[in-house]
Formats: sequence, C-alpha cells, structure tokens
Amino acid sequence: MSATPRSGCSPSTRRPARRHRGSTRGRPAVFVDRDGTVNREVHYLSRVEDLRLLPGVPEAMRRLGGAGFALVIVTNQSGVARGLMTLATVDTIHHELARRLARRGVRLDGIYLCPHHPTEGAPPLRRSCRCRKPRPGLVRSAARDLALDLRRSYCVGDGAVDLELAAAIGARGVLVLTGHGRRTRRSLDPRVPVAHVAANFRAAAKWIIHDAERSPRHRRR
Ligand SMILES: [Mg+2]
Ligand SMILES: [Zn+2]
Repeated sequence: MSATPRSGCSPSTRRPARRHRGSTRGRPAVFVDRDGTVNREVHYLSRVEDLRLLPGVPEAMRRLGGAGFALVIVTNQSGVARGLMTLATVDTIHHELARRLARRGVRLDGIYLCPHHPTEGAPPLRRSCRCRKPRPGLVRSAARDLALDLRRSYCVGDGAVDLELAAAIGARGVLVLTGHGRRTRRSLDPRVPVAHVAANFRAAAKWIIHDAERSPRHRRR
C-alpha cells in the first residue's frame, strides 16, 4: 500500500499530472476536510448509508470550481488503522460521495486519505506517517499530482488539524462551525492562525472567493 492512498473516484485523479517545478505557477486549491465539513459528523463513518452531505455543500463547491479552485478532499481515516473499517469500505464511501457531488455538477479533483494511526492498531497501518493531518504529506502529494499553488490555497475544516495543516503549507485556514467546529473554536491554541471562521462550508466558500479576489498574493498572474 502506498503511503498516501487515494480514491480514484473522479476521472481527473487519473489524468496525467502536469508538473511544475515552482510552487507559484499552479492552480490554487481548496483542501477540504471531510467529516463535519462536507458530510455530517458521525463517529467513524463506516457505512455508506450514514453518509449525509451537509446543506449547501454541492453548490458551494460548484462556485469554488467556477472561481478556478481545484477541489481536494483531505481526510484522516484512522478508523482503518484501528480496524473499524477497511480501505475498501472507505473507497466505497468516497465513490458514493463523488457520485453525489457529480450529480450536482461538482467535479472533485481528488480525495486523499491517511489510513494510519501512530499508536492504535497494528503495523503497517500503525505508524507515525507523513500523511496524517496536520502533517502535509497528503497536500504535498496533491500539489504534485495536480500542479497546485499552495500559497494561493485554502484549507477548510472543523478541526484544529485542518488549521494547523494550513499553517504548515503556507495556505489560509478557514474554520467551519459544523461538526466539531464549535468545540475546536473554544479549545484552539491561539498561536494557530485562523484566517476566517465560517458558520458552514457554504459561508466558507463565499468568504474564500471574496478573499482571493481582494488578496494580492492570490491574484492570478
Ligand atoms: Mg472534520
Ligand atoms: Zn498517514
């Protein structure tokens, strides 16, 4: 198994990647957390029947895509390492997620997942990997595969790891108050930068589009 398994659930993930040496020449991306951000948070989602998209998510993703952002879901799924589900189950859930979004006109550029945990389960999935958020392994893979410009990118999520990930890659972090977002806001280390707090993904997308338009570093060159 690769260190950064990903679901090949959208046609674009199988497209040959354009490669750029510089980090500033690619497309900006929105790296989107999955549970509690895109779909309703349930404790270790392991059944496709429990997958529920949060309101407004497809429309917001369509708007971000239309504004030129690559859409990449980046998710920690330590339930795999813990033996609560298999990678095949996660893949089934991701195919269904991509299918539902596609039906609403959203083309995801990729879904990248970390199935590891540093202390739970058994090797090889029990390990200190480079892909478990807030480590930037998944984003680095996506940036290579899709030729992304991380400095013009955003991370959106309901967890501290999503904001720490943004800081680690030089992107902007947006906290959503869905899922565990309210708890995260209360407990977040004040040293972790938060560019914006949004009620939900729809509001986050609206803010991102506005921010990218007014922000010099985000201006298209
Ligand atoms: Mg989450
Ligand atoms: Zn990992």
